[in-house]
Amino acid sequence: MKTPRSILTTAIMTITVSALCSCRDKAVQQQTTPSEKPWVVDRFDDIKVLRYEVPEFENLPLQQKKLIYYLAQATKCGRDILFDQNFKYNLTVRRVLENIYLRHEGDSDSTEFRAMEKYLKKVWFANGIHHHYSNDKFRPEFSRKWFEQAVDKYVDVVELPIGKEQLCDIIFAPALYATRLDQTDGNDLLATSACNYYEGVTMKEAEEFYAAQADHNDPQPVSYGLNSKLEKRPDGEIVERTWRLGGMYTAAIQQIVYWLEQARQVAEEPQKSIIDALVNYYRTGDLREFDRYNILWVGDNSSNVDFINGFIEDYGDPLGRKASWEGLVNFVDSAACHRTQVISENAQWFEDNSPIDPAFRKKEVKGVSAKVVTAAMLGGDCYPATPIGINLPNADWIRKEYGSKSVTIDNITYAYDKAAQGNGFNEEFVLRAEDRERMKLYGKLADDLHTDLHECLGHGSGQLAPGTKGGELKNYTSTLEEARADLFGLYYLGDPKMVELGLIPSLDVAWAQYASYIMNGMMTQFARIEAGKNVEEAHMRNRKLIAEWCYEHGKEDNVIEWVKQEGKSYVVVNDFDALRKLFGELLREVQRIKSTGDYEAGRALVEDYAVKIDPALHAEVLERYGKLGIEPYSGFVNPDYEPVITDGEITDVKVVYTDDYVGQMLDYSKNYSFLPLIN
Ligand code: ZN
Repeated sequence: MKTPRSILTTAIMTITVSALCSCRDKAVQQQTTPSEKPWVVDRFDDIKVLRYEVPEFENLPLQQKKLIYYLAQATKCGRDILFDQNFKYNLTVRRVLENIYLRHEGDSDSTEFRAMEKYLKKVWFANGIHHHYSNDKFRPEFSRKWFEQAVDKYVDVVELPIGKEQLCDIIFAPALYATRLDQTDGNDLLATSACNYYEGVTMKEAEEFYAAQADHNDPQPVSYGLNSKLEKRPDGEIVERTWRLGGMYTAAIQQIVYWLEQARQVAEEPQKSIIDALVNYYRTGDLREFDRYNILWVGDNSSNVDFINGFIEDYGDPLGRKASWEGLVNFVDSAACHRTQVISENAQWFEDNSPIDPAFRKKEVKGVSAKVVTAAMLGGDCYPATPIGINLPNADWIRKEYGSKSVTIDNITYAYDKAAQGNGFNEEFVLRAEDRERMKLYGKLADDLHTDLHECLGHGSGQLAPGTKGGELKNYTSTLEEARADLFGLYYLGDPKMVELGLIPSLDVAWAQYASYIMNGMMTQFARIEAGKNVEEAHMRNRKLIAEWCYEHGKEDNVIEWVKQEGKSYVVVNDFDALRKLFGELLREVQRIKSTGDYEAGRALVEDYAVKIDPALHAEVLERYGKLGIEPYSGFVNPDYEPVITDGEITDVKVVYTDDYVGQMLDYSKNYSFLPLIN
C-alpha cells in the first residue's frame, strides 16, 4: 500500500520548536547538488513537475553506489509494462505522438502543435491516455484533422498495429474507453474500465474464475491473479497470461532480470538471496515464489540500500486483484530523525491501546519496521507521480506472520514542501489565524508523522476474524483499507503518548493535522476533481469518508462547523478532543467491517459519505483554487546515475540532475522501451 500526497500543500517555515526533523535542512545544505535551482521544472495543465535531490549519495561506499546504479537501471526497464497495463493502446498512442513531436517540421509554435505537446506531456505523466488520478480519458485540445495530417506526414502507419481511423477514435471519441478504472456501483466494471487486465471476460466470469482457484483451507493463500491478464479465448475458454519470462511482457522482464543479476553481483547477504528469489519469480511467475521473496524481503532490516521492483499494488484493477508494475530504489536516511524507530519500538503499545474491538487486535505485533529513506530512483507506478510512504508486502497472511516494512520518503516530501512555500493556499482556505499558525509551525512534522503512523502501524494493525479471508469487501477494499490506516494515524497523533515519547512537542501538532485533514476531506481536495464528477480515487474517497462521517456524527455538539464569511465557505474544527473520539469510533467500525468482511456495511459507508460532492461547494472550491494558480498534482523527474569507468572497472558512480522533463521522457522512450506496441 502506498500513500500519495494529499492536495494540502502546507508551506513550511523553519521549525524551531522541534529538533526532531530539522536534520533535513542540514543534509541538503551539505550537498553539492543544485539546491539554488528552481524545484519546479515544468508546468502543464493541472500538473507541476518537480525535481528531487539525493543527499548523501556521494558519501555512500562504492559497493552501495554500484548497487543503486544497477537497481536504478532495473527500475527504468519496466516503464512500458505499466503503459500497457493501463490501457491496451497506450504504447501505440505514445509512439505516434513521439514520432510527430520529434519529426515535426515547420511551425512549432502553432496552437495545434503546442496543444499536441501538452497532451503528450500528460500522456507521459499518466503513463497513458487516462488521468493518473481521476482515471478519465484526456481530451485533446488539437483537432482531429490536424492530427490526421500529421500522422500522414510523420508516421509510418504500416508499422502500427491499428489503422489511422481506430487510432483517431481512441484519442478523439469521448465515449470510447472513457475511463481507465470505473468503480460505479452496479456496473460490470470490466466492461466499463479501459485498463488492460481483462479481455473478453465479464466481471462475473472473472470472479467465478478466481473463486474456483481459491483454496479456503489454505492458511497461506497466494495472491491469486496478481501477475496475469485474464482473457477469454475464441473457443470460450478463460485463461491467464502470466507476466513472466516466456510469458506476457517477456522483453521488458528480460531487461529487468539482467540488471537485477548485475545488482546481485555486488549485493551482500541477505540481499543476494532476496534478489535470487525475485529473479526466480520473474522466471517462473510462481506466486508462491513471490511470497517467499516477500518473506525474505520483509525480514531484511540490515541492508542500507533497499528496493521495490515488480507487480505490487492493485489500485488499478476494478476488482482489486491485478497488480501494476512499479519500482523504487532507496537508501536509509541515517542523518534523519529517529521518529520511525520510536514508533516501531512502541508498536505493541499502540496495538494494545487501539480503540477497536479487542477481538480484532493483534495479540503479538510482529516485524514492524519503519524507516525514513532517500529515494534514488522512481519507476513504473511510482513515477512521475510518487508516493510519500509505502508499506509492504500486501498479503495479509505474510503481514500477520512476518510483519511489514514501511518507508517514508523524506527527500520527496522535502521537495514538495520547498515547491509549495508561499503559494497562498492556507491564506485562502483556512479561516482561523490560530489554525494557520499551527499549520505553519507543525505542518510538515504533522504530515510526516501521520504518514509514518499510517504506513508503519495503521496498515499493519488489526486482524481478521476466523473465517474471514480478505477480499470480501471487493471494490470497496482500497477505500476502507486506506480509511483504516488514516484513522489509526489520526487517532494516535492526538494521543498524549506522542508527547511522552518525544515525537511531538505538544498536541498542537495533532490539531494542525486535524484542521487540515478535515478541510481537505470536506472541501479543498475537490479542486482535483472536474465539475460534475464524483470522487473516485481510493485515498480521496477515504479522506472524504472520514471527514464527512465525523461531521455528521459530531453535528449535535458542533464538533465540525461550516462557516460562511464574505461569501466564502470555510470548514472549521471547534472541538479537537471530541473529533479524536470520533476518529476512534469510526476506526472501531471500519476495523469491524474489515475483520468480519461486512460488505454491505462497507458499501454503505463509502456510498453515503465518500462519493458525492455538493455541486455548489465544488464550483466554489474550483474557482477559489483556480485563482491561486497552483497545479493540484505533482510528480518528479529522476536524477540519473553515471558510472565512472577506469580500466574496465566501475570506480565511482556520479549522480546527475536534470531539469528537463521532456528530455527525460524521450530518453526513457528511446533507451528503456522494449515491448511491442500490442502485447
Ligand atoms: Zn495507505
